[in-house]
Amino acid sequence: MSAINNIAYGLDIGGTKIEIGLFDHEMKMIDSWRVPTPTENYHEFLYTITTLINEADKRTGQQGSIGIGMPGIIDKNKRVKSANIRCATGKLIVEDLDNILGRNVAVANDCRLFALSESNQGAGRNLPIVYGAIIGTGAGGGLCIDGELYKSTNNTAGEYGHLPASGALLNKYNIKPRQCGCGLIGCSETYIAGPGLGWLYQHFGSDSNSTTQFVTDLRDNNPIAIKTFDCYMEFLGSAFSTLVLSYDPDMIVVGGGLSKIDEIIEGLPAAINKHLFTGIESPIISRAVFGDSSGVRGAAILGKNHEFEK
Ligand SMILES: [Zn+2]
Repeated sequence: MSAINNIAYGLDIGGTKIEIGLFDHEMKMIDSWRVPTPTENYHEFLYTITTLINEADKRTGQQGSIGIGMPGIIDKNKRVKSANIRCATGKLIVEDLDNILGRNVAVANDCRLFALSESNQGAGRNLPIVYGAIIGTGAGGGLCIDGELYKSTNNTAGEYGHLPASGALLNKYNIKPRQCGCGLIGCSETYIAGPGLGWLYQHFGSDSNSTTQFVTDLRDNNPIAIKTFDCYMEFLGSAFSTLVLSYDPDMIVVGGGLSKIDEIIEGLPAAINKHLFTGIESPIISRAVFGDSSGVRGAAILGKNHEFEK
């Protein structure tokens, strides 16, 4: 078996499924498959990952580089904190997998890897500073400079969803700060992620908290849906304006379920400008190029770069 890494493996670990993607030297996906995620038993979790890697080696006839993306944070002590994959919380996943596989494994937050994927041949290709923001079941992201993830002590650069929502907007719409899954209160995520949008829709008087129903109603000019949309865009514009003030990116690439709603993507530049000083303008807003394969792709790039860095 060759040890030359022409092949890169990317694993996208979600709360229900683990997807593995095998990429050739040009980062074209040559194979992929999924298995259920064991969330309660850490040994089973490690065994599942090892089995995927062994199967990938068998299919490619090589030992590919290994990158892994997962929800949560890998803290400065290299311990995982993940609400979705409870069995991995507090564990030294990189060290454990290195030992079992006898190979180097790189692990990062999945939203940050979305940013890495999009700044490498994606929507943000050739742009120096690209921020990738997910608005889906959660709101997370990452910052890339010249195609590489910005690395920081706590690995938190990009966690825009957990900055506090604008107090001025909470007042304006008579909304109380909500408890966030991260343990803090009043995070932007509780208003701008999918469940937050559903919550706002009910707050303004709808019986439904479904985002699909919301979009249908918005396109039917339902007054509650319009009011919800205006409020939602203010919260989202405010959250994204903090990215401009913090990082001043050339582009914000948007992914996740809510990025598929045209009205949100189209309305974003104006919504961001509303929260910036005069003379400062929103960066280019773009939808992700790689869509659902961003997770495995970003993970594979991470693993590949990690191999080169050694
Ligand atoms: Zn939070």
